[in-house]
Amino acid sequence: MSSKYNRGSFQLMKSINRSIILNMIRKDGPISRAEIAKQTRLTPPTVSNIVKELITSQFVIETTQGASQGGRKPTLLAINAEHFYIIGIDVGRYKMKFIVTNLFGELKDSTVLQIKEYPTEEDLLATMKTGIYSLLQSDKNDTEKFLGIGVGMHGIVDIEKGISLFAPSFDLHNIPIKQELESEFRMIVKVENDARTMTLGESWFGNGKDTDNIVGINVGHGIGAGIMINGKLFHGENNIAGEIGHVTIDLSGPKCTCGNYGCLQTLAGGPAIAARAKKHLKTGKTSRILDFVENDIEKIDGETVYQAACDGDDFSVELLNQTGRFLGIGLVNLMHTLNPKRIIIGGGVANAKNFLMEGLKETIQSRGLTKEARETSIVLSSLGENASAYGACVLILEEFFSQH
Ligand SMILES: [Zn+2]
Repeated sequence: MSSKYNRGSFQLMKSINRSIILNMIRKDGPISRAEIAKQTRLTPPTVSNIVKELITSQFVIETTQGASQGGRKPTLLAINAEHFYIIGIDVGRYKMKFIVTNLFGELKDSTVLQIKEYPTEEDLLATMKTGIYSLLQSDKNDTEKFLGIGVGMHGIVDIEKGISLFAPSFDLHNIPIKQELESEFRMIVKVENDARTMTLGESWFGNGKDTDNIVGINVGHGIGAGIMINGKLFHGENNIAGEIGHVTIDLSGPKCTCGNYGCLQTLAGGPAIAARAKKHLKTGKTSRILDFVENDIEKIDGETVYQAACDGDDFSVELLNQTGRFLGIGLVNLMHTLNPKRIIIGGGVANAKNFLMEGLKETIQSRGLTKEARETSIVLSSLGENASAYGACVLILEEFFSQH
């Protein structure tokens, strides 16, 4: 597979002035050379030279669209968004989602693959490669277009080496994702924790666009947070920052996969919701949930509880409300530790928003330290189930557009 654009692209981006100009065209384009010079305070010849390079390498195109101030229409510069594509992968517990976006993060293609039960490292890497090949070989896509691959992976990730250090849902350690995919596809590969990619996606394209201090919470099988401070993801010393799923909420709560008791995810994660439902139903509680699983209590999962709640089942509604209250305690802890401007909730459990929000907001109201804390904006992910995959694409876009 050719890598002729890839290597060149990233070498090109090494100049700070090039990044500044490229980013200005992305954010403010179509824009004229004169306007760029004015805003960046670079000299017009410097701007002209850099723009010439950007046009030669096909990152930028000239256009005459835009406002004309009488007479000849000015030549404006725009990102050549369709010329380069990026692949973003979200590795979930049961499914791997693959998306393709252009340089504006617009969705071009996608596919979903099942992950084998109890996958080995080889199974996981093989599924990743299968998905990537299917997108590269899809008739619509010219493989030369692809700049890189971003991967959002649950658990602890070494972002420098692109290694999944620990993926608790699979009980796998030290998966060399970056190395494997780079040698297979000869393009840049970046790996990051999935809650952080979700936060990155929201920050570029979703509900975090207008602020630099956000926390994104991914509530699904497990619970993780991506912390963004002053526009940068915060990783902590050993990439553990944001593991809010393992913050203790109830000292005598259920045992967690991490070995502790009463972690947030043992109370508010999808399996936790199902476990509470099962426990109550086994003691004879009646609920519409039983209709959804044909009286087989073992078949209950978070989704069933949500469906029954939508169907007006009081027991399920209360269960989700209680989940919202647990989640609220986790969020209050976060707010008091980090004081973000906004908290963005995503992941499968977020689908139950109508039932979660009441309990959640109630808890924040009763526990928030100050009026400002109680008024912290809590919103749902606007990118929905693809948020982590979009954010995985941003890992590459960031490399491309941001100033280094
Ligand atoms: Zn735990």
